[in-house]
Amino acid sequence: MDSDCQKGYTTQPVLCLHCGNETVMEVVGIHEWGSQQPDDEFQFHYTYRLLVCPTCHRPTLHEIYSDEESCLPPDYESQETILFPSHSVGSPAVPKKIAKAYQAAVRAHGIDHSLCAMGLRRTLELILCDLGATEWGLKDKIEEISADERLPEFLKEASYLTKRFGDDAAHGKEADYDFFDVEYMVGFVGHIIDYLYVLPYKLNGFKEHTELKKKWAKDPEPIF
Ligand SMILES: [Zn+2]
Repeated sequence: MDSDCQKGYTTQPVLCLHCGNETVMEVVGIHEWGSQQPDDEFQFHYTYRLLVCPTCHRPTLHEIYSDEESCLPPDYESQETILFPSHSVGSPAVPKKIAKAYQAAVRAHGIDHSLCAMGLRRTLELILCDLGATEWGLKDKIEEISADERLPEFLKEASYLTKRFGDDAAHGKEADYDFFDVEYMVGFVGHIIDYLYVLPYKLNGFKEHTELKKKWAKDPEPIF
C-alpha cells in the first residue's frame, strides 16, 4: 500500500478490491485528524485518503495511522488499512493462508472470472478445513460443517453457490456468468469470513474491553 498522502495520484500501484486491478489511483480527497496539541499526553495521527480506480471508477478509502510509539489500535494488522470496500481479511482474526487465498482470488477478478471463481472455491475449502471438516469433497465438507450449525442456512446456500461457480469454471462451463455474478461470489466468501472469524473476534474484544472497564472502576490505578 502507498503511504503518499499528497493529492494527485498514488506513487505506488494500489489493489482495487472492487475489480481486482492493481494500479495507480487518483487521490480525490484527504482528511487528517489526531492529537490536538504538541504537549498532549499521547501523540497520534490518522490520515484518510479517498482513491478512485481508473479501471472500474469505484472508490477506495484508506486509513493510515501513526503514533509516537508505533502502537496499533485493536483490530489493526498494519499502519495502513483499507476501510472501504469491506476488507475482512485485514483483520488479525483471519488465518493467514485464508486471507492470502481470498486476496489472490480477488486479484484474479480483474483478470479472469474463471480464475477468480476457482480461487474463491479454494478459499471456501480452506475455511472448512480450518473449521475441522474431514470429508473429502467440498459438498460433503459444507454438509459436515453445517450439521453442527457452525454454518447457518444462508451461508450454507452461499457456500453451495460459490462451489457451483468454482466447479463450472474448473470445467470450462462458465460462459453463462459475468463479472457481476463473480462479484457476488467475492462478497459471499467475504461475508462467510466475517461471520466465522471477524465477528467472534470483535465480540471477544468487546467483552475484554468491558472487563477492563470494570477493573478500572474498582481500581483507578493504571493497569498497564
Ligand atoms: Zn477497480
